[in-house]
Amino acid sequence: MGLTRRGFIATVLAGWGSAFLQACGYDNELSAEVDEAPNGWRPAYEKLEEAGEFADRVEEALSRLENCQLCPHRCGADRRAGQMGFCRATARATVHSHQAHFGEELPLVGRNGSGTIFFSHCNLRCVFCQNWPIAHEGRGREVSDERLADMMLDMQRRGCHNVNLVTPTHMMPNIVSATRIALRKGLRIPLCYNTGGYELVENIELLDGIVDIYLPDLKFMDGDQAERYAFTHAGDYPERAREAIAEMHRQVGELQTDGDGIALRGLMVRHLVMPNRVSGTREFVRWVAENLTPSTYVNIMSQYRVEHRAFEHPEIARAITPQEFLEAMQWAEEAGLTNLDSRSVSQRDLFRRRLGRG
Ligand code: SF4
Repeated sequence: MGLTRRGFIATVLAGWGSAFLQACGYDNELSAEVDEAPNGWRPAYEKLEEAGEFADRVEEALSRLENCQLCPHRCGADRRAGQMGFCRATARATVHSHQAHFGEELPLVGRNGSGTIFFSHCNLRCVFCQNWPIAHEGRGREVSDERLADMMLDMQRRGCHNVNLVTPTHMMPNIVSATRIALRKGLRIPLCYNTGGYELVENIELLDGIVDIYLPDLKFMDGDQAERYAFTHAGDYPERAREAIAEMHRQVGELQTDGDGIALRGLMVRHLVMPNRVSGTREFVRWVAENLTPSTYVNIMSQYRVEHRAFEHPEIARAITPQEFLEAMQWAEEAGLTNLDSRSVSQRDLFRRRLGRG
């Protein structure tokens, strides 16, 4: 990677001594260069290319657009021939937007943001979806794999710490193809696969050696709830998501960060607490502790809102209470989880203080 303007400044300043740098407040500038190439760290996809295996992987991924089995719906649509399945995706990626995003978990956001690419359509389409114009209505525009690669490179140019692929499942072949194109043009930041969790394990296996960071949801632990609250009636969601997450964990293990706490590789699991225990938080935390590791990075999220069609379902037609969130965090502690997202811990402490339990 060539020396950037920021790199040039940092290199010159480095010669002046760390005490002076601290006095000038330039520490962060030097850390930024570490972020870009921490201790010789290299993305998995670069090593796959060096091993001569990436081209075959792209070919295999693109072939899966025919007779589509890219998610558990197994529609069998020949998307290369123009057919569409449940998700309504075509053979080209549809992207709503790409931007540096600062609302993700802190190890992804760092100082410069997470380079999010929001894909349109979804294979779950939950009734409470907060992004329903994108996920349900498919707002966005079709792009070639070359254009998708340029978006990835744009995220890197803006200093983002990763390419964060939001709702990628049905676009996986395009993502794999675009990543190889971007690699040949200089992409070197980790890919973050930010999925709703409704995956088939054989498709996650194809990503072994391409994706460095997995960021799956585990939304429901009970199939009846998934059947009820996903428009696509995904009653097998808990089973498929657990299998997929176990495979992700096998590939990348626990979260690894650089010296500044920026994510480089590993698994980060999200779980949204819903009203009336709909998402099965107690079962979720126990499953993580018993089937992954107690030190798996887990984000227990409090931001459930009544969005889209959720108001039609009385059980989920309200926000969660502070007591419900505290109960969820208590279960996480009882299960022995030790690597809880710092913002969920801060939210817990805030609720505790408000309720006089601090
Ligand atoms: S990715 Fe879309 S077309 Fe393919 S199996 Fe899933 S829902 Fe069907």
